[in-house]
Amino acid sequence: MKQRCIKVPKKKGESVRRVLLEFELLDHSLRIASDASYLYLPLSGEPEASELAALPVEAGSELTEFEFEPLERKPTLEELLGFSPRFEVIGDIVLLEEEELEPAGAQKAAAAILETHPRVKTVMMPLTPVIGEFRVRDFEILAGERRTETVHREHGSRYMVDLAKAYFTPRLSTERIRVLEWVREGDTVVDMFAGVGPYSILIAKKARPKRVLAIDKNPEAVNYLRENIALNSVQNIEAIEGDAREEAEKFAGLADHVLMNLPHSAHEFLDSAVLLTKPGGIIHYYGMTPEDDLFESSIELIRAAAVRAGRKIEVLETRTVRSYAPHQYNICIEVRIL
Ligand code: SAM
Repeated sequence: MKQRCIKVPKKKGESVRRVLLEFELLDHSLRIASDASYLYLPLSGEPEASELAALPVEAGSELTEFEFEPLERKPTLEELLGFSPRFEVIGDIVLLEEEELEPAGAQKAAAAILETHPRVKTVMMPLTPVIGEFRVRDFEILAGERRTETVHREHGSRYMVDLAKAYFTPRLSTERIRVLEWVREGDTVVDMFAGVGPYSILIAKKARPKRVLAIDKNPEAVNYLRENIALNSVQNIEAIEGDAREEAEKFAGLADHVLMNLPHSAHEFLDSAVLLTKPGGIIHYYGMTPEDDLFESSIELIRAAAVRAGRKIEVLETRTVRSYAPHQYNICIEVRIL
């Protein structure tokens, strides 16, 4: 197919290609061609005089026409399957979220995801929801490499995690930034349920806190937390393997911020959270609540815990983080403990 193009001596080809990309003038549907001396760069439109002037061309360059071969277009996932499957990407692993698919359908979807997403190395299906004290899931590997460990990038940090051994979800990445914005330079932060460290490491890296205490009861999660502290070269953070209730006794009255990211049972740890919080410090409380009582009952539980300790509360912010199930929401409440 004949197409307008820029013919350029080979040694200038790459720099001209980059400028064309910047101007969005390169036709990506055609294969760039060459002969012994020249590169032929197909154009998606006619360059303006100012754009031509910006091209680093030299003697022998010209605007001309050339017979290009079309680039083969790979079919999209939807074209391969006839529908767009729901999935979540963690590092180079895809979690296929189509539980209702028959085994053969799930295999086909997994193979199609691998074919259309070159960076994905493993596709697996969660066999259970997030369960148990350590909030982990079982998986069936459907296609690709037989592993459940990966490295996920978020906000400039890397998190290594074995998804079958420790909790991690990228779905809280915006929420983590919201919490980060509360923390001031010199603050002490206690992350009672730190997992592999996505809140603690982000805060330690970006908020210039005095100290971050990252606690988790799951030994596997704490191993990855330690690994991730090293991977991201973070200094002012301590990984603590232990029960948040017991650890709270050791750090009473120390925290400017207490993070309670254990939404199904955070209310059971409120006495410990209040104990940790210094006067004027803030608890970031997560819960799972019904749509007709998003915040009130949780606020009353927090108030009751404060009163038990002879303290008062000031509610600073309430928000829904995400929808969790029909009529159920993951919520967060920021409360100052006076
Ligand atoms: N904050 C992390 C994140 O965003 O990825 C992890 C959150 S995950 C929902 C809750 C974590 O709490 C799990 O890693 C689990 O092992 C930990 N956990 C559960 N009970 C605990 C306890 N009593 N003390 C300390 N950690 C606990």
